[in-house]
Amino acid sequence: MKRKVIIIGSGPAGYTAAIYASRAGMKPLMFAGLKHGGQLMDTTDVENFPGYRYPITGPELMEDLRIQALRFGTEILYKLITEVNFDTKPFILKDEDGQTWESDSVIISTGAEAKWLGIESEKKYSGYGVSACATCDGFFFKGKDVLVVGGGDTACEEALYLSNLCNSVVMLVRSDKMRASKIMQDRVIENPKIDVRFNTNIVEIKGDGKKVNEVLTNNGSIVCDGVFIAIGHKPNTDIFKDKIELDNDGYIITIPGSTKTSVGGVFACGDVQDKIYRQAITAAGTGCMAALDAERYLSNVK
Ligand code: NDP
Repeated sequence: MKRKVIIIGSGPAGYTAAIYASRAGMKPLMFAGLKHGGQLMDTTDVENFPGYRYPITGPELMEDLRIQALRFGTEILYKLITEVNFDTKPFILKDEDGQTWESDSVIISTGAEAKWLGIESEKKYSGYGVSACATCDGFFFKGKDVLVVGGGDTACEEALYLSNLCNSVVMLVRSDKMRASKIMQDRVIENPKIDVRFNTNIVEIKGDGKKVNEVLTNNGSIVCDGVFIAIGHKPNTDIFKDKIELDNDGYIITIPGSTKTSVGGVFACGDVQDKIYRQAITAAGTGCMAALDAERYLSNVK
């Protein structure tokens, strides 16, 4: 059966698109992936999603969004889309079981993943002192001593943000130079609260089992309360390569002020098209935009 809109991905962007699309009578079908909810499923307390008086955990927030989307008639399949054909109208999508689906429009909200160091202790303390988002978790480290790992623009932004909240910020850069733009490097170097240490790699993150208290590096140990990993993100766009326009980092290019991609009828929202803000609320905002863009597009499709 041909659908009006298929949504791929189930983070805040996908669910918000689903809520708007289902309330507009578009009967969306969502492919939520094997594990629904996206990056917030790996988060503990969320305090900056508007509308919640008290902290809510990431998984609880995503469950609320899922129920809200279902309530208005979104159909959800917990499967992956593995192939897309945007050359035909309607578009054809293939799921992991080989079943094909036709749709007049597609909303892509497959998100991005933070890159991690890949050491065991990082996983152990994830959400308990180890984070990949200073805007999300910096507040929990007010007046404390933290580390930022990475030398790109994101790491510089995270270090600068944390320098306004924390007692001290040590930035660990693995080589003898930073990759960040000159202006960001200058801001970091000139900030008296930030101590940049080059040629330094984390070997192990240590703690008392409940929270981080020290990090071992190739240049000795550093006492700290938190570790922010800022070594880049990877957008989940492998299946869209050569199907729609992506930028050099693999993010989907959207027309500014809209969620339109290089293919008419295909829209992108959330972190899969945003390397700057990467917040649940900005993802949700663009999810709303994608549903409205799809609705307008569908009004011209017979
Ligand atoms: P980048 O890929 O630019 O930088 C990643 C950094 O992490 C590099 O310093 C890299 O080191 C380091 N790194 C990678 N792997 C490891 C590891 N295993 N251990 C230690 N360090 C590691 O990622 P960003 O997220 O910073 O930026 C991505 C893109 O987004 C860039 O184009 C950036 O300019 C853009 N951006 C723009 C912003 C803005 O305009 N405001 C804000 C944020 C990002 P090495 O150099 O040695 O590889």
